[in-house]
Amino acid sequence: MKRSVCIVLICVFLILPIVSACGVTRPEAISEAPIPTAEVRADDTVEAISVSTPFATPEPLPTVPPTAPPTPEPTEIPVTDPVITLIGGDSVQVEADFYFTDPGYFADDYLGNNITSRIEVSGEVIPYKVGNYSITYSVTDDGGRHSTVVRHVEVVPVEMPEIVMPPEKTVYLTFDDGPCGYTEQLLDVLKKHNAKATFFVIGNKGRTDLIKRAYEEGHAVGVHTYTHDYKKIYKNEQAFFNDFWATQEVIKEQTGSYTRIFRFPGGSGNTVSRRNKGIMTRLTKIMEDLGYRYFDWNVSAGDASGQPYSSGDVKNRVVSGMKSHSDYAVVLQHDIHLQSVKAVDSILTWGEQNGYTFLALDLTSPVVHSQVQN
Ligand SMILES: [Zn+2]
Repeated sequence: MKRSVCIVLICVFLILPIVSACGVTRPEAISEAPIPTAEVRADDTVEAISVSTPFATPEPLPTVPPTAPPTPEPTEIPVTDPVITLIGGDSVQVEADFYFTDPGYFADDYLGNNITSRIEVSGEVIPYKVGNYSITYSVTDDGGRHSTVVRHVEVVPVEMPEIVMPPEKTVYLTFDDGPCGYTEQLLDVLKKHNAKATFFVIGNKGRTDLIKRAYEEGHAVGVHTYTHDYKKIYKNEQAFFNDFWATQEVIKEQTGSYTRIFRFPGGSGNTVSRRNKGIMTRLTKIMEDLGYRYFDWNVSAGDASGQPYSSGDVKNRVVSGMKSHSDYAVVLQHDIHLQSVKAVDSILTWGEQNGYTFLALDLTSPVVHSQVQN
């Protein structure tokens, strides 16, 4: 028995390895089979290929239990004074104008709450007066914390076009205080001679509809006044502006645009404004800084003197003035006086025969300014 046991054991140890060597497939051999790969095409798209694993699906990886994001340490918002922000910066430059519009501002407290409504603004800008100004903005938050900032405003003159000297023997006929019924025949005469002129108009009476015709026929339209009431107009700067703008509105209604030329009621050298000392000195500068050009005259028809005169008298005075200002003449007439209007035909005829040109004023025309008396 012992011997047979030995034989069996020998058989087990000798034969089993041989059987194995004779091709019994082992798992390792299978795993060496080529694993299908995804096919990459020229266009870089990948065709999905299902891959079956020869073995059982691997155990899923143990999932990491999700961890809550770390709670941030509570940080304290630093307590600071409120912050005022000036839109447009703390230094602005504006052109002279009839009004000033603040570019804007806002304020926040340290928590970011908008406290703009609590801003107090002090300081003044005189928008039509060239110079430097300061505006102060102050705000206080709930905690009594206070901030103040200052804005510097520089008012500069409006830039004006260069004056261009006209050829010799240029005449600018100008007519004040209209339009009225006579203006219609005046426009007819100007048209007949193909001459241009300038109308410094009154806004509150007369034939304001003729402003449109004058403009459309190539004549210049400038502001004279709305009321022509010296006492009212020269009371102060604001009163002058009110009168000026009332006239501008009439002109815009008739021509579609505002004008930038004007003539002071009574001229810039008037003394009727004397009750307000220095008003003409101030207004002449202010109006030029605002971008308007005023014209006085170097030839007067003498048609507003109150003395009787004929159209022949007017013609003689104007022609004489044209001769003595042969470089350029700015002639003052009034189209509310019939004799003055009647003289225009002969003035134009004489001018044509003697080589004069009649033009309308504009911002590039040479200025004629009287000596300011007040
Ligand atoms: Zn006048």
